[in-house]
Amino acid sequence: MICEKNDIEKSLLLDDYGRRINYLRISVTDLCNLRCMYCMPQEGIQKLAHNDIMTLEELEDIAGALVELGIDKIRITGGEPLVRKGIVSLVKKLSQYDGLRDIAMTTNGLLLSQYAKELKAAGLKRVNISLDTLNPEKYEKITRGGSLESVLEGIKEAQRVGLGPIKLNTVLIGGFNDDEIEKFVELTVDNKIDVRFIELMPIGQASDWSLEKFIPSNSVVRKIPGLERIESEDISSPAEYYRLPGALGKVGLINPITCKFCENCNRIRLTSDGKLKLCLHSDREIDLAESQRRGDDIKSIILKEIKNKPKEHNLEDGEYIKRDMFKIGG
Ligand code: SAM
Ligand code: SF4
Repeated sequence: MICEKNDIEKSLLLDDYGRRINYLRISVTDLCNLRCMYCMPQEGIQKLAHNDIMTLEELEDIAGALVELGIDKIRITGGEPLVRKGIVSLVKKLSQYDGLRDIAMTTNGLLLSQYAKELKAAGLKRVNISLDTLNPEKYEKITRGGSLESVLEGIKEAQRVGLGPIKLNTVLIGGFNDDEIEKFVELTVDNKIDVRFIELMPIGQASDWSLEKFIPSNSVVRKIPGLERIESEDISSPAEYYRLPGALGKVGLINPITCKFCENCNRIRLTSDGKLKLCLHSDREIDLAESQRRGDDIKSIILKEIKNKPKEHNLEDGEYIKRDMFKIGG
C-alpha cells in the first residue's frame, strides 16, 4: 500500500514525538476457533465477560470518532475476527465512513472460503492470513487441531474475489518452521502473494519459550541470499521488503525484537472491551468503553491521550505486557 503523505498530514492525532497517527487496529473478539501454541492456552482461557464486550454499534461509534480525527486505515483483527457475529455488517458500516481509504483484516483464514465474497462486497479491501507451516500435520499441531486445507481454500477464495494483495503472516519458530523458510519464499515466485516473516514476541503463551525458539528474521536473508532488498514506499510499515528476481510476490521481514520501528509508528489499537492501547508493548490502556457509557466527549479524551503515546517499546529489559496477544490482535 502506498502511504500518501498528504492524507497522513490531515490527521489531528499528533503525539508528543511528532508522530501523526492514522492507523487503527480493532480487535473485535477475544474468541478464536484455533489454539495456536504461542498465542492461546489450550484450556483455562479467561474470556472477557459478555457485558464487557463492546457491541458492534459501540465499536462503530468509537471507530467513527477516530476516523473523524484522522484515522484513514483500519485493520480488523481478534481473536479470530470471522467468529464474531455480524462481522460483515461491521465491515460494511466502517467502509462507509468518509475519510477511510483502507480497510483490511487479519485472520487465520479458516472461515475465509465462506466469508470472502461477502466481505469483499461489504467493502473489505485486503486480508492478511496467518500461516506458520505448509505441512498439514504440523499445522494441526501448532494450531491444536486446525485444518491446513481449509486455510488454503480460504486463500484461493480470497484471491478469486479480489481481496488482495494477499499477505501471509508467518511467525518464525525455531525448531518448528525454520526448515520451511525456502518453501514459503518459493510461494512468492509464481503467486501474487507477499510472505511476511514475523519475529516471535515474548507475549502471553510465548513469554516462556520465546528465548529458546526465537529466530531473528534476518536469518531468512542469510538462508536465501538471492533475495534483493526493495525500498519501501511506506515509511510507517514495520516490514522490510525483499524480492527474488522476477518473483510476483514480495518477502517481508517484521522485526519487533531485533530492530525497532517505533520512530515511525503510526498505529493505535482498540480492544473488544473498549480499551485504547497507544502501544502494543505497554500495559497502559484508556478505557473508552467506560467514557462512552458515561457519555463523555470521546474525541477530546483521545486528542488529549494521544500525546502520551510511548516513545518506544523496551522488550530487551524483559518488560513484557500482561494482556494476551489474542486479546489485542497483533
Ligand atoms: N486470529 C487472527 C490470526 O491469527 O491472524 C488474528 C489475531 S492473531 C493474535 C494476529 C497475529 O498475531 C497472527 O499473525 C499471529 O501469528 C500473531 N501472533 C500471536 N502471538 C504472537 C507472538 N507471540 N509473537 C508474534 N506474533 C504473534
Ligand atoms: Fe487464534 Fe490468531 Fe491466536 Fe492463532 S494466532 S490462537 S488463530 S488469535
